[in-house]
Amino acid sequence: MAEKSYKYIILGGGVAAGYAAREFVQQGLQAGELAIISKEPAAPYERPALSKAYLFPESPARLPGFHTCVGSGGERQTPQWYSEKGIDLVLDTEVVEASVAQKSLKTASGDVYKYGALIIATGATFIKLSDFGTPGADAKGIYHLREVEDATALYEAIKANPNGNAVCVGGGYIGLELAAVLNMNKMKVTMVYPEPFCMPRLFVSEIAAFYEGYYKEKGIEIVKGTVASGFESNEHGEVKVVKLKDGRELPADIVIVGVGARPNIGLFKDQLTVEKGGFKVDGFFKTSAENVYAVGDVATFPLKLYNELRRVEHVDHARKSAIQAVQTIKAAEAGTSVEEYDYLPYFYSRAFSLSWQFYGDNVGDAVVWGAKGADKVNAKFGAYWVKDGKVMGAFLEGGSADENKALATAARNQVPVSTIKELSNL
Ligand code: FAD
Ligand code: NDP
Repeated sequence: MAEKSYKYIILGGGVAAGYAAREFVQQGLQAGELAIISKEPAAPYERPALSKAYLFPESPARLPGFHTCVGSGGERQTPQWYSEKGIDLVLDTEVVEASVAQKSLKTASGDVYKYGALIIATGATFIKLSDFGTPGADAKGIYHLREVEDATALYEAIKANPNGNAVCVGGGYIGLELAAVLNMNKMKVTMVYPEPFCMPRLFVSEIAAFYEGYYKEKGIEIVKGTVASGFESNEHGEVKVVKLKDGRELPADIVIVGVGARPNIGLFKDQLTVEKGGFKVDGFFKTSAENVYAVGDVATFPLKLYNELRRVEHVDHARKSAIQAVQTIKAAEAGTSVEEYDYLPYFYSRAFSLSWQFYGDNVGDAVVWGAKGADKVNAKFGAYWVKDGKVMGAFLEGGSADENKALATAARNQVPVSTIKELSNL
């Protein structure tokens, strides 16, 4: 059992870790100063690939192709990159105990890592239906998706079930993206979700209607207003039937569950202030303990633009919060300072040939344009959310880079609109 000391440790080896490492290097890092400790066997990678290109039937994406920071046009940081920069990448290593008072982390094998400054970037874990006690929810063939190993297992299951039945439980990001790739793999796909339309936390009914119509045309069945209440398996323990609360039964060779994620805060939850499910941080990602930062999915940060605390589970924020934390650390060392984080929420998704982006806040009245009867091949439509005469949020399907930039500007500046008609000129 070894004890090692580092000036900086990043706990977690996901998206935020990769971008934080790059920022440390850009700001100036000595060999041996930084370690990244990750439960995963792979160096930090762009997690969004797992629900998209990783599962494509033809030429699927594979590591090392999508290590960070390629997702934002940056360098591909392979394990070799880390060793060249003198960064210790401690993979396949779970931290099981943490002490903020001792400034130490203990791994499952008993090794102890001491830090000067710590960046917590432990991300989130999928919620399972067995967490709610749904009978049969641990059967073989029921998949969740978070890490590359989950994606590999799912890919192999898809290949082992050509033309089989797949059921996607949940109508959020995972449900919509996975239903698309399973359909592309020629599986017979059914989606099940309790709400009246998909992605209800962001979409309004007119937007959802376009995507649901598109999916149906592709042959995907959609069952709304009910939930999976149990699963039946064969004699090998493999799932075969999804039982719905409304009494229906769906045949299934593969089930994907996408019913949300829970931030990984357990190691520190009694040592750091927690709010809205994450570690409460300031505009520099400092937690309630000195020299301990939290970034990405686990951070509940001040969203300056809306004057409220928020936690965001999307990749753009994971990248930017990581950069902000590192810049804060380095500025303090240099006796300078950085500006407070001033984030404009940005989410996106891609499925089939569709691609949408959203900026800002979906509050107020949604004004949707072009969705009804939108062309399914070159779909282009959008929406603005207007509150108190100002644009708060902007959504666009099929936009160009310039159009999306304009959308971001409208949401950032909260452009005033006196009439709805004005919106078409933005
Ligand atoms: P993560 O990237 O999840 O990294 C956390 C890391 O910490 C992991 O390596 C984990 O193993 C490690 N870890 C956790 N606990 C421990 C421990 N105790 N010891 C050691 N290591 C530990 N967002 C978008 O905006 N667009 C998308 O298209 C998109 N697609 C997605 C697709 C999928 C399949 C998933 C799961 C998420 C997607 N997201 C997307 C969300 C986005 O990937 C996350 O918000 C982002 O990865 C968060 O970054 P993070 O560094 O905070 O956490
Ligand atoms: P989401 O929170 O996006 O969606 C989960 C959906 O499942 C919600 O609509 C939820 O409803 C619903 N739900 C909850 N319980 C049940 C149930 N028992 N049966 C059926 N549906 C249920 O989570 P995902 O699982 O889709 O995604 C997991 C994580 O991965 C998230 O952090 C997400 O941001 C991230 N991700 C992001 C992507 C992107 O940004 N493009 C792509 C893929 C993943 P309710 O809201 O009522 O709880």
